[in-house]
Amino acid sequence: MTKDRCDVLVIGAGAAGLAAAIEARTLRANVVLIEKNDAPGGTTGWSIGSFTATQTPHQISAGIKDSTDAHFDDMRRFAGKDADRDNPGLRRLFVENLSDTLRWLMSMGVEFFGPMPEPPHTKPRMHNVLSAGHEGAERRRPLRPKSTLRAAAERNH
Ligand SMILES: Cc1cc2nc3c(=O)[nH]c(=O)nc-3n(C[C@H](O)[C@H](O)[C@H](O)COP(=O)(O)OP(=O)(O)OC[C@H]3O[C@@H](n4cnc5c(N)ncnc54)[C@H](O)[C@@H]3O)c2cc1C
Repeated sequence: MTKDRCDVLVIGAGAAGLAAAIEARTLRANVVLIEKNDAPGGTTGWSIGSFTATQTPHQISAGIKDSTDAHFDDMRRFAGKDADRDNPGLRRLFVENLSDTLRWLMSMGVEFFGPMPEPPHTKPRMHNVLSAGHEGAERRRPLRPKSTLRAAAERNH
């Protein structure tokens, strides 16, 4: 990689950009990730860290029988009278990729607790990031984008 060349240029170091950069690097691409702010994080850094998903290790170990179809149907309840304005194709893509995404985050060292009830969802599906400030989490290291990228790169090279 020269100063002005790379295989993959990722613009923005929030969750989407960091995930794209990690995946591209895992595929051995030379990746440049640029961020307009002083530090990575973006809106992702503000988020509470709740992650609603079905068929996760947490749901399975709690004995919760759930499905992506049920999740797909329940999402209408949030939209109310605007439900028909939703994009069902995108909603389907969303619900069907959540479990793998949560597992991928866990493989990066993100720890979740739950699932918690989240009405109008009909099953407990809300997983929450276990932050460094959470009770019992003193021994846990907060996840930082730089260390995430480094760990992913080291694991694959
Ligand atoms: C208070 C709050 C709480 C939330 N809680 C949750 C939650 O619990 N669960 C949940 O699922 N969602 C939550 N969300 C929503 C969630 O945070 C966003 O949907 C998600 O972070 C978006 O990720 P992103 O990577 O698309 O964008 P971002 O995380 O915003 O990343 C985009 C990055 O691109 C950078 N950028 C933009 N333009 C340029 C440019 N021209 N050049 C270089 N860099 C650029 C930005 O500075 C930013 O760092 C919450 C949002 C807020 C505000």
